[in-house]
Amino acid sequence: MNGPLTVGERLVSGNLGEDIFAFAAEIYPICRSITGKGVRKTLQAIRSHINLELHEVPTGTEIFDWAVPREWNVREAYIRDQRGRKIVDFATSNLHLMSYSVPVHRWVSLAELKQHVYTLPDQPDLIPYRTSYYAENWAFCMPHRLLESLEDERYEVVIYTEFSDGSLSYGEYLHKGETDDEFLLSAHICHPSLANDNCSGVALLTHLAKRMAGLRTRHSFRFLFAPGTIGAITWLARNEDHVKHIKHGLVVSMVGDGGGPTYKKSRRGDAKIDRVLTHSLRHCGLTPTILEFSPYGYDERQYCSPGFNLPVGLFQRSQFGGVPQYHTSADNLDFIAPDHLAQSYRLIAETIDIVENDMVYRNTNPKCEPQLGRRGLYGAIGGDKDAVAANMAMLWILNLSDGIHSLLDIAERANLPFGLVRKTAQLLHRNGLLTPYGDVDPSKS
Ligand code: ZN
Repeated sequence: MNGPLTVGERLVSGNLGEDIFAFAAEIYPICRSITGKGVRKTLQAIRSHINLELHEVPTGTEIFDWAVPREWNVREAYIRDQRGRKIVDFATSNLHLMSYSVPVHRWVSLAELKQHVYTLPDQPDLIPYRTSYYAENWAFCMPHRLLESLEDERYEVVIYTEFSDGSLSYGEYLHKGETDDEFLLSAHICHPSLANDNCSGVALLTHLAKRMAGLRTRHSFRFLFAPGTIGAITWLARNEDHVKHIKHGLVVSMVGDGGGPTYKKSRRGDAKIDRVLTHSLRHCGLTPTILEFSPYGYDERQYCSPGFNLPVGLFQRSQFGGVPQYHTSADNLDFIAPDHLAQSYRLIAETIDIVENDMVYRNTNPKCEPQLGRRGLYGAIGGDKDAVAANMAMLWILNLSDGIHSLLDIAERANLPFGLVRKTAQLLHRNGLLTPYGDVDPSKS
């Protein structure tokens, strides 16, 4: 009974989880921040897989209420004791240096050093991740146990960082579809060595874009890799006239752990993307959490600011801040796994499948039920245990295909997975019982 493969089905072939994991592991060691060489190196790594368009926006460029900050790069950073032993070294873990630390080279007492050290007393073996983008400061991050072990002596603090008038870098890739209606997929690329947040999201979207190349799609798909907050603001400021084309969007972050999945709705709350994710997560066989919009989180904050109010939600596995590994050195490659990455990828591919294939049919035989048994349609789909659901899908589709209700409307009302409803509709269409009535009413998108 299967028709030709859909876009979503074509996207999920092959060695998904291993490929995504390998790319996440490749970019994991790079020291990223909101600007600088690490961001460029990451974009180049993405570019080795897809034809990424690179953008450099000069320091000082005004972007709404903000300006592109000075570029920040690190040469070295460490703390040495009086015997010349390095206590912590940026070369060992880039989490040791607070991002955007100003340059310092001097001897300090332990008491003064402690004013510039972040630890996690409740997780004494982990290094926290800290930034100070917009306030001039310097700090080191280290395990609490290490700080406790330091003797009351003087320490040499060395931070060779450079601030320069440079630029902010971001990359985008457009998969051109048959229409200008766009699906935005956005991942932040500003975190240093944190695997789940967000090497996982960057790697997943890179591989999604790569596999989409060559496929025919109805929507155009825009993949945006930009530093968090300031990158999204920069992109929106430079594309203000373009955003009307965005009909659906997802911010993708923290997709490599085994929690969730979690979906946070767009500010609109009833956008199609909100309906699609709510529907597909309900049927995904895991234990999903669906959250209403709140103005705290990742770049959905910018996309959903009132002046844009775009239909963009946030897709994650565990919620940010909801796991002990969040923003610590425990968010490493052991925290993410190929299976989880593949599962997250499939959920996003399914989302794409729904927005690509949702359509309206009309029942060609609306006066009383058509005689299905005569056409051999009862139990025609799947094995015996699926037959009941398939029969229900047939009845619902025939009842609601009135030129108004779309396949997603039917799947929601019947509480059946969209994929089953779509396949069943194709079967009924091949048997002359349905006729395509057109795309979904754009006002409902
Ligand atoms: Zn984060």
